Amino acid sequence: MRKRIGKNDPCWCGSGKKYQDCHLELDEKIRNYKLRGYKIPPRKIIKNQEQIEGIRTSGKVNIAVLDYVAENIHAGMSTEEINRLVDSKTRELGGIPAPLNYEGFPKSVCTSINDVVCHGIPSEEEVLQDGDIINVDVSTIYHGYFSDSSRMFCIGNVPEENKKLVADTLESIQVGLSEVRPFNRLGNVGAAIHEFALGKGYRVVREIGGHGVGLEFHEDPFVSYVTRRDTGMLLVPGMVFTIEPMINLGTDEIFIDEENDWTVYTEDGAPSAQWEVTVAVTEDGYEILAY
Ligand SMILES: [Zn+2]
Repeated sequence: MRKRIGKNDPCWCGSGKKYQDCHLELDEKIRNYKLRGYKIPPRKIIKNQEQIEGIRTSGKVNIAVLDYVAENIHAGMSTEEINRLVDSKTRELGGIPAPLNYEGFPKSVCTSINDVVCHGIPSEEEVLQDGDIINVDVSTIYHGYFSDSSRMFCIGNVPEENKKLVADTLESIQVGLSEVRPFNRLGNVGAAIHEFALGKGYRVVREIGGHGVGLEFHEDPFVSYVTRRDTGMLLVPGMVFTIEPMINLGTDEIFIDEENDWTVYTEDGAPSAQWEVTVAVTEDGYEILAY
């Protein structure tokens, strides 16, 4: 059982402020939602201002690394070269690439080309071709804080249909963000993205989603993009999570590479696109911490 915090006691969030000057009001509001049957976030995923600042700073490194990739990516380069760019730039900026050795992942970045949905492993043998679309997924640890974002790159002359998939998937992020505000529900973020994607004739990957992030690489909640409206966890200020839908031109069926047990492909070989942002729920909406 948790001891009740007195209003003059220090707040549980670690801000150092008195409870009544910090999270007391929010807790009472959250409690009312809980009584009405809402799934509420556990305290450990609600960040204080200092922690948000730490994640924001980590996000600045993540953004700079992706900007560096954007300046240098080109046809004829191997995905291993992208891995070297990401690893060296992250370390130059004082960060650590979070994917490296994470649950045995062998590289510092995920590089997912065309029909690879996610978790592509960089390789010397894999060379970017004119017409490819590629997702580069960068995650940074900076002074103990985690950030995570990814972008798509179109290499040379990309077929119109695939270019549109990339652009529409980026737009879906904005559609999802429009549902991020305090006391909305997480399911509305996924529902908005799903409705948008289906309306364009695409399919959305169901098995893999986004996640809470900040103090660890992967925290609660799981962020699905095929959810129903008015379901899922209550959004409250201080929550930080990723929005990273994987949208397919063909089927939503996927399979995992049996040899490396990481790389996810579309079943039908049609292309898949993904963009990712790290977003914080604020007092009146959201703040993007990494893109
Ligand atoms: Zn507090």
